[in-house]
Amino acid sequence: MSELTELYDQVRACEKCQLSQSRTLAVPGEGPEDARILFIGEAPGFHEDRQGRPFVGAAGQYLNELLAKIGLRREEVYIANVIKCRPPGNRDPLPDEIATCRAYLDRQIDLIRPRLVVTLGRFSMERYFPGASISRIHGQPKRVGSIIYYPMFHPAAALHQPRWKTLLDEDFARIPGLVEQLEQIEEEEDQPRPPQAEQLSLF
Ligand code: URA
Repeated sequence: MSELTELYDQVRACEKCQLSQSRTLAVPGEGPEDARILFIGEAPGFHEDRQGRPFVGAAGQYLNELLAKIGLRREEVYIANVIKCRPPGNRDPLPDEIATCRAYLDRQIDLIRPRLVVTLGRFSMERYFPGASISRIHGQPKRVGSIIYYPMFHPAAALHQPRWKTLLDEDFARIPGLVEQLEQIEEEEDQPRPPQAEQLSLF
């Protein structure tokens, strides 16, 4: 059993916060264990709670369409959420729920080691862009070391706001370019560094 599969079992059995009392199923996340692209949503909704899988309702359908438009299949990317259990009535996750669930997503990211982390909506944006406003920073990638963080509107929000839908489409369309940049970063990392003597002779 892989460490990620073990983590899924822990998430499914988790009783660390009150959401475990009202959920049907916890939703650990899904995708290839070595995915290069990780999407992080907010929290499971009605359908996710029933099926134990992320983004399977209307927002998920829309996410699949957005992925298809840029030539990606859902199976090629990893999809997770900030919190793993559905808040009653789809209310916003509470700060203590996010804090309690944080270690699961942290561990997931450590194991998957994605190179492009796409945050969907305010709650996942907050992890990497604390205090930022999504209307200001959506579509602006930030490189930290060899990882690119890319904030976007949440597909569910865009479904209700035609103006955000256009912005989300535009932001998605930039993903292939970011993947190319990642390839360059990876190539740079693979380049053997010149021996020290050679380096010194440059000065
Ligand atoms: N919205 C989310 O943020 N996550 C899901 O899994 C489904 C809807």
